[in-house]
Amino acid sequence: MSQTPSGGKAYAAFHRRSIEDREGFWTEQAALIDWHKPFEQVLQYDNPPFTRWFVGGQTNLCHNAVDRHLAALGDQPALIWVSTEVDQEKVYTFRQLHEETMRMAAILQAQGVQRGDRVLIYMPMIAEAAFAMLACARIGAIHSVVFGGFASHSLASRIDDAQPKVIISADAGARVGKTIPYKPLLDEAIRLAAHKPGKVLLVDRGLAAMERVPGRDLDYAAERARHLQAQVPVTWLESNEISYTLYTSGTTGKPKGVQRDVGGYAVALAASMKHIFCGNPGETYFSSSDIGWVVGHSYIIYGPLIAGMATIMYEGTPVRPDAGILWQLVERYKVTVMFSAPTAIRVLKKQDPSYLTRYDLSTLRALFLAGEPLDEPTSEWISKGLGKPIIDNYWQTETGWPILTIAAGVEPMATRLGSPGVPMYGYDVRLLHEATGEELGSNEKGVVAIVPPLPPGCMQTVWGDDTRFVKTYFESVPGKLVYSTFDWGVRDQDGYYFILGRTDDVINVAGHRLGTREIEESISSHAAVAEVAVVGVADQLKGQVAMAFAVLKDPAQISDPQARLKLEGEVMGVVDKQLGAVARPARVHFVNALPKTRSGKVLRRSIQAVCEGRDPGDLTTIEDPVTLEQLRQVVKG
Ligand code: ATP
Ligand code: MG
Repeated sequence: MSQTPSGGKAYAAFHRRSIEDREGFWTEQAALIDWHKPFEQVLQYDNPPFTRWFVGGQTNLCHNAVDRHLAALGDQPALIWVSTEVDQEKVYTFRQLHEETMRMAAILQAQGVQRGDRVLIYMPMIAEAAFAMLACARIGAIHSVVFGGFASHSLASRIDDAQPKVIISADAGARVGKTIPYKPLLDEAIRLAAHKPGKVLLVDRGLAAMERVPGRDLDYAAERARHLQAQVPVTWLESNEISYTLYTSGTTGKPKGVQRDVGGYAVALAASMKHIFCGNPGETYFSSSDIGWVVGHSYIIYGPLIAGMATIMYEGTPVRPDAGILWQLVERYKVTVMFSAPTAIRVLKKQDPSYLTRYDLSTLRALFLAGEPLDEPTSEWISKGLGKPIIDNYWQTETGWPILTIAAGVEPMATRLGSPGVPMYGYDVRLLHEATGEELGSNEKGVVAIVPPLPPGCMQTVWGDDTRFVKTYFESVPGKLVYSTFDWGVRDQDGYYFILGRTDDVINVAGHRLGTREIEESISSHAAVAEVAVVGVADQLKGQVAMAFAVLKDPAQISDPQARLKLEGEVMGVVDKQLGAVARPARVHFVNALPKTRSGKVLRRSIQAVCEGRDPGDLTTIEDPVTLEQLRQVVKG
């Protein structure tokens, strides 16, 4: 059974109740949102693992995010759009956001979009993307946001999967000062796709010339002008209707279309804003993610707005115009809660640390980081630099909100370096033996699994594929119907979990099972290393050996081969000392950058494939293919 984290008595009781009295617990949480019609049943679980929350209740995400706040916060900021790419900022109050959302909703309705229809959103980080998501939610259309960085092929497969009636897009995005035209990619994707959308609504930012397809393409500004006075009432939805579909990052292969409900999601987000993020109405939330990812859905758009907070939508990178931009925004907009990813912090780590202290960060209470393992040196570096608590949180597109973290709003338990924290309320987390499914105790490594029913907010199914949902997530542990996270972890004696990597990242060196994450942690502790990826590579003698790829804070350090060899030896020495010689990588290669997904996650599978001379697989989600090419060269020697 779950253990009591030290100094976590109040939280442990809270968590226990969430599992032992699900109905009572979630009925209380459900009061955090508005219901048009109360639910008749809290939880329906007669067809495991399919879960229905708040059955019979009627609500609406857009109402809870926007309309509900009009009376108290109408003239307060709701959406703060900042672009350091085109040097513009615009603040929308809740009232203005309400108006823009109704205009967008009216445009969609005029194109025949109805409840249950899909609308695909392929947009840069502009305010209209938020209007589009909220407008869909308002009228009960299902949005499917596709990350703007994807090119035609990835987009085409998602168009075919979602079968949208309308696609909303823009002329272009901008990244690191370069214009990235979207429209040609979209046209090509529609050409490639079997499904053809009825209409394409285009926001013209004036960044790139656009060819328009007569009869199909609509201009947003013209349509908006036609619907300036639109009053579009909220469509009340049964709690289990579909709010959206969203694809996973694709780190381990073909992305899965995660489908989410309405009521459960709204309640889960409202509860997380209260218990985990501790955000209050009238304050500002800043997540540096993208609307194309789950963090963008939950914690740029819906979560903060449901909590009555202003939310910053940021088009730009953490280092432009300089490495202080994130903190400058915190100061300017009096941000109280901030959310970012370890990968962004590692980028900052290569810059002058004095940027961290140039701005007044007195409003900021905590920095939340998620998406990837947060290594201890990075955590310590940013925590010391900012003088703020760093709260790691572990979750997945599938769950929609944190599985493991600290719920400071319930009890401000201590964080532990290297650990995202303890199981969140509603999640019955266990560690299971990979092969036998047997439950493991403290300090034993196993698969992180969740005993269903999954709490509100988690995925309902894989869009259009119930069989894949059950097969993928609930049938991987032998003999047990449990949800597998496909992450490997360990729990200490106080109940804190540590994520050791993905289950397919476990390597077997001469019979020793090692998590690549552990080796990465060890290598990162060397002062010269900015980031590192370790993969297991087939080896005739040992089964597998570890291979490391490190990015240095200062690449000039290894300008000559002698220095390179010396550093490689040093890094191996660190691993020897910390983990033992068995974990020592066969090689430590120094590279300029690691191949990552568009969401900033290291593509360890592809690195491994390259090392073993195999086809790196589906690369639709890779950020920069050049990184993999360089890696191939380095491996060849
Ligand atoms: P796919 O499932 O398509 O391979 P993905 O798993 O990368 O893609 P996401 O749902 O965006 O897609 O990422 C969730 C995963 O990210 C988790 O399962 C875990 O491996 C990793 N992760 C997220 N947060 C953390 C964290 N705080 N610490 C360690 N790992 C994390
Ligand atoms: Mg995943």
